[in-house]
This record gives sequence, C-alpha cells and structure tokens, in this order.
Amino acid sequence: MTIDATDLKRMFDTIAVAIEADRDRLCQLDGVIGDADHGIAMALGFGAVRDALATLDLAAVEPTALLNTAAKSFLNAVGASSGPLYATAFMRAAATVKGKATLAEVDFIALFQAMAQGIKDRGKAEPGEKTMVDAWQPATEAAAEANLAGKNLAESLGAALAAAERGAEATKDMIAAKGRSSRLGERSLGHMDPGAASAVTVIGAIRKSLG
Ligand code: ADP
Ligand code: MG
Repeated sequence: MTIDATDLKRMFDTIAVAIEADRDRLCQLDGVIGDADHGIAMALGFGAVRDALATLDLAAVEPTALLNTAAKSFLNAVGASSGPLYATAFMRAAATVKGKATLAEVDFIALFQAMAQGIKDRGKAEPGEKTMVDAWQPATEAAAEANLAGKNLAESLGAALAAAERGAEATKDMIAAKGRSSRLGERSLGHMDPGAASAVTVIGAIRKSLG
C-alpha cells in the first residue's frame, strides 16, 4: 500500500472523530490527576486540523506540507501542554517525508517513529514518567519491529495499538514525574495518564484509517 495526501487527510479526519467521541472520558481522566481539560484540548486541536486540511487542494499538496499544516493548526488551537507536544510530532513527521509525493509503508513507519521522538524531545520525558510517551514509545517500537520482521502496515499498526494499550495501562502503576500531575507525587498512583489514554485513541484511529 502507498499513502498519499488524501490518505493522510482521511487519517486526521478519523482521529478527529475518535477523539471527539472520547472527549468526556479524557477530561474525566485529566480531572483525577490534572486540570480536566485534556479531552477539550485534544478535540480542539484535531478539530482545527480537520478544518485546516479541508481547505487544502489534495491533488496538489505534498504529505510534508499537509503535515506542517496539521502542526501549525494544532499548535494555534491548543493552549495546554498537549499543543506543542503534538505539533512537534507532526512537524517531525513532515520532515521525514520531505520531497515525497507518496509514502511507502516503510516511510509511514519512519513518520510514525518520528512522531514519538518529537513528543519525547519536546517534553523531555522518558518512559516511566507517566506521560503520553509511555504509550507512544512502545507503540512506535512495536510498529518498527513488526515492519522489520516483514509484517505489512496493517499488522504493524495493530502491534502498535496493542503496545500503546499496554503502555497506557502501565501508567496506572507510575508516579508522575513530568507535567501538571507531577505535583501530586505518589497521589498520582493508581490512575491512568490522560495523555497516554488519548495516545491509544489516536493510534487506534491511525490503524483504523490506514490498516
Ligand atoms: P495540561 O497538563 O497543560 O493541562 P493536557 O491536559 O492537554 O495539558 O495534557 C496532559 C498530558 O500531557 C499528560 O497526561 C501527559 O501525558 C502529557 N504531558 C505533560 N507534560 C509532558 C511532558 N513533559 N512530556 C510528555 N508528555 C507530557
Ligand atoms: Mg490538562
């Protein structure tokens, strides 16, 4: 399978629908260890991306420009910490596919890995610190591993989703060390990180649209 700008737009539209449907749960999770706005932030961000991409001429726009448009609109729409984190993810994704009109499956795996690396770099978070990195990093590692083992994109993204779900679940046993919830210290134990939870929703939508 090859992926073009139309496929990437469909991917972002699918994410926007999934996040909108998950909005209240994400706010509730953030209400426990944060400030209860995570669902609102993510819905605003992906809603803005959907609106911005709707204005593009998909026959003329290259994947890198589409991803940079997504980055800019997400950043402008979101005041919460997830804003710069996802904006950096999309900017890094854009950089990996520069000059390509269509993406091979292996290009998309590289794009996906660049997203996780961008989130890590921007937030300076390591695995185990109870953030969205705890879902994104194992997910992209699982996708890359599956791809190297000869699996197709659908199978690789399926492996990514399973790893993200395990990673998000594991945040319940972590003490928050980054972001707003780090102020709670040990009181953050026992609760899933909202950013890790939304990462599962995002990755699930990516798999649904491209898998
Ligand atoms: P805010 O905390 O500003 O209200 P959101 O509610 O939108 O922002 O997002 C909170 C989520 O952002 C957290 O659950 C966590 O997953 C993620 N996060 C916060 N700080 C960092 C960081 N430094 N690195 C990676 N992820 C982070
Ligand atoms: Mg919040």
